[in-house]
Amino acid sequence: AVTKLFARYVYDSRGNPTVEVDLTTDKGLFRSIVPSGASTGIHEALELRDGDKSKWLGKGVTKAIANINEIIAPAFVKANLDVTNQSAVDEFLNKLDGTPNKSKLGANAILGVSLATAKAAAAEKNVPLYQHLADISGSKQDKFVLPVPFQNVLNGGSHAGGALAFQEFMIVPTDAPTFSEALRMGSEVYHNLKSLTKKKYGQSAGNVGDEGGVAPDIGSPREALDLIMDAIDKAGYKGKIGIALDVASSEFFKDGKYDLDFKNPNSDESKWLTGEQLASLYEELINEYPIVSIEDPFGEDDWDAWVHFYSKVSSKIQIVGDDLTVTNPLRIKTAIEKKAANALLLKVNQIGSLTESIKAAQDSFDASWGVMVSHRSGETEDTFIADLSVGLRAGQIKTGAPARSERLAKLNQILRIEEELGDKAIYAGKNFHAASQL
Ligand code: PGA
Ligand code: ZN
Repeated sequence: AVTKLFARYVYDSRGNPTVEVDLTTDKGLFRSIVPSGASTGIHEALELRDGDKSKWLGKGVTKAIANINEIIAPAFVKANLDVTNQSAVDEFLNKLDGTPNKSKLGANAILGVSLATAKAAAAEKNVPLYQHLADISGSKQDKFVLPVPFQNVLNGGSHAGGALAFQEFMIVPTDAPTFSEALRMGSEVYHNLKSLTKKKYGQSAGNVGDEGGVAPDIGSPREALDLIMDAIDKAGYKGKIGIALDVASSEFFKDGKYDLDFKNPNSDESKWLTGEQLASLYEELINEYPIVSIEDPFGEDDWDAWVHFYSKVSSKIQIVGDDLTVTNPLRIKTAIEKKAANALLLKVNQIGSLTESIKAAQDSFDASWGVMVSHRSGETEDTFIADLSVGLRAGQIKTGAPARSERLAKLNQILRIEEELGDKAIYAGKNFHAASQL
């Protein structure tokens, strides 16, 4: 039983306060820390921030913390909830909140408690966290699937200075025999990319963005892709590594058009692209580069553009919904019915509880979608999503570059899981899109 539940604030990787939860049972103390996005979708559950501009520029989380310590904690302890029954715990938290988007207590408050509960449950059962998560997700456990690490080696969009509109350029080592080899390939390409970038654009171009990737001040996606292709080549992996993009295009969707110069306040409106023009650009890029996946190619409510693009390329590449679907079973259902995407980006803080995140993954698998477990651009040392990617049998994880410890914390945790599993581990590799079937 839970004897104590306590929340405090700590800081995330961007230096903003965030919620940390300590949940104590007779097995020990179980801690979780909540991440935070920058290019957030408008349909996400509510992240409760104080808004008091005199402290942390309005980004304090003292209300969310008070909601845990004063409202959730006493009720939770009194209810004597069984931590191994995650869905009952999450239902209890949702009832206590009572709103559809967790706006009363805050999704950041609820999620912290939800994730700490799962860690306590794993200890209660004396199993690794990924195994407990597989239990409650109903995933196969004969062997465990380790995800392909989608490594964001070049940062743009709202995660970096510089003109580049597309947010993430990821390398995808599908040909590696194991997870650890995939990570080694990624690390080698990353270091080659860093040298090439500095050589071509000057020393400061090697400085990194929010997710640890290099952030040169370049304007076009082709220039970024050429640089990455050179780095792959230099590292000796020509033909062995795919590319994935997160365009995060909601960030530059204005008046029905896409502004690829959105960080320039004097951007020329006559150059903004229609959804169809942007789709044509993607099709060209797909033909020129080994692109295997594109996330948020269009705005979060520009459904027609998604449907048009899906009809053209869904048999060739993975089309991932992030801001479109916000890990929300209702929006996922719409996207499945409309044929707008064929994969889910799963971010636990977009929906705000573990049970709903698992449902989002299950609904996606049922529709033969892929599922990519994801960090946020504001991250912490918490490694929960590493175990989640394995427990869900997702086959894909994105957690930034192979640099910066808030990113590596997750990848390092998967290295440990790989070691622990030994020959019970299967690397998803080329099957990342349908890994749940492996
Ligand atoms: P965010 O970005 O965490 O800043 O929202 C990540 C993403 O768009 O996938
Ligand atoms: Zn995204």
